[in-house]
Amino acid sequence: VALRLYNTATRTKEDFVPIDPAHVRMYVCGPTVYDFAHIGNARPVIVFDVLYRLLRHLYPRVTYVRNITDVDDKINARAARDFPELPLNEAIRRVTEATNAQFQADVAALGALPPTVQPRATEHIAEMIEIIARLIARGHAYAAEGHVLFDVPSDADYGKLARRSLDEMQAGARVEVAPYKRDAMDFVLWKPSTEEEPGWDSPWGRGRPGWHIECSAMSWRHLGETFDIHGGGIDLVFPHHENEVAQTTCAFGHPRMANVWMHNGFLQVEGEKMSKSLGNFYTIRELLDDWPGDVLRLTMLKTHYRQPIDWTQRAMEESRAELDGWRRLMHGTVVGEPPAAFVEALSDDLNTAQALTVLRALAKSGDAAGLAGALALIGFDDFVAGASAGAVQNGWMPQQAPGYDTSLVERLVAERLAARKARNFAESDRLRDELAALGIQLKDGKDPATGEPVTTWEAMR
Ligand SMILES: [Zn+2]
Repeated sequence: VALRLYNTATRTKEDFVPIDPAHVRMYVCGPTVYDFAHIGNARPVIVFDVLYRLLRHLYPRVTYVRNITDVDDKINARAARDFPELPLNEAIRRVTEATNAQFQADVAALGALPPTVQPRATEHIAEMIEIIARLIARGHAYAAEGHVLFDVPSDADYGKLARRSLDEMQAGARVEVAPYKRDAMDFVLWKPSTEEEPGWDSPWGRGRPGWHIECSAMSWRHLGETFDIHGGGIDLVFPHHENEVAQTTCAFGHPRMANVWMHNGFLQVEGEKMSKSLGNFYTIRELLDDWPGDVLRLTMLKTHYRQPIDWTQRAMEESRAELDGWRRLMHGTVVGEPPAAFVEALSDDLNTAQALTVLRALAKSGDAAGLAGALALIGFDDFVAGASAGAVQNGWMPQQAPGYDTSLVERLVAERLAARKARNFAESDRLRDELAALGIQLKDGKDPATGEPVTTWEAMR
């Protein structure tokens, strides 16, 4: 199957050619941890989780990095508001830890796998300082009044990703006129901190990083100077991603930071822009109180990721009804391979809308094994495990993050099945005990079609 992805940098759909076919590398901008994530924040999480799963299906190894922004002036303001009695750094630690724990629980409930690495900005200050020093040495940045600024006119390629005119870029960046800037477009790499504010020692004095530099630092540290895919919401193209490209390419001298840039479209609610003042602002947490995570995930995948999505009550109701039907159909089934037509639809620039059309046809023809395999590939693996093992007869399982790692369980189950087929019963028993220790119960049987031994599993509760 040939994977094709739409590349924002070239504005075309291209064949995906990994730099190293043995190891695909992807970076996606993650949350700034100061408040509950809203349903708009869930879109890139789910979209790039599906891409991660598809890449893992197609390639032997994938490293997926999604950062955690834990240094930001919005965090400082929230910490001062919520914990006025605490020293600011302690207050910040409380805000970022609680918000990050909430975010991880929310996205796990949406069926998103943990990325390979979730680096924190505050743990990569040394890498940021090194990139800034390189930019100064190469004539792409300058220090002034405790700040370090990126020298935009020094980068002939600046603006190529966003394809905007200078006027549009200035408007988009909400350019701040400051006396220490040589050019209005120059952006902050480092800024001074007061005594009370979080700060780190640097060659330019005690201070803290600007926002954009952290993604250049963390992608470099975990993926290298140039890598395959960089993703995020469409609102990040300018200025954030434009600035990331400028920093990374000017610091390391490669023509590209990432070969493919992917951006998901906006989300609105019942036809309106989501806003607190309109009263249509939904956090993931609030929606999970009323709807299972699988319903939210399916609702998100019905619209192609590059299109704007209209989030409606009705769409969630339809998703619930569809999932109910699929669960009944899959009861007691064996999970099959995802059918080729399904993988092909996903491989066409992650066309989940088309893939769901294939999926509905599988359901209509009664192909429960194919349906289960297809659903598992796009992140409904726990749903499939519950339905196929018959763990859930009626109604929904309560929302809770599983106390086990699904991919580990699947690997151990597969290893045990291989041991059984090889009649190595000592190893098979050892693996069954290891799974039991994880709270996983096994059921051995035979595939009615082929007579081959099969094993299904469910979490004991
Ligand atoms: Zn970023």
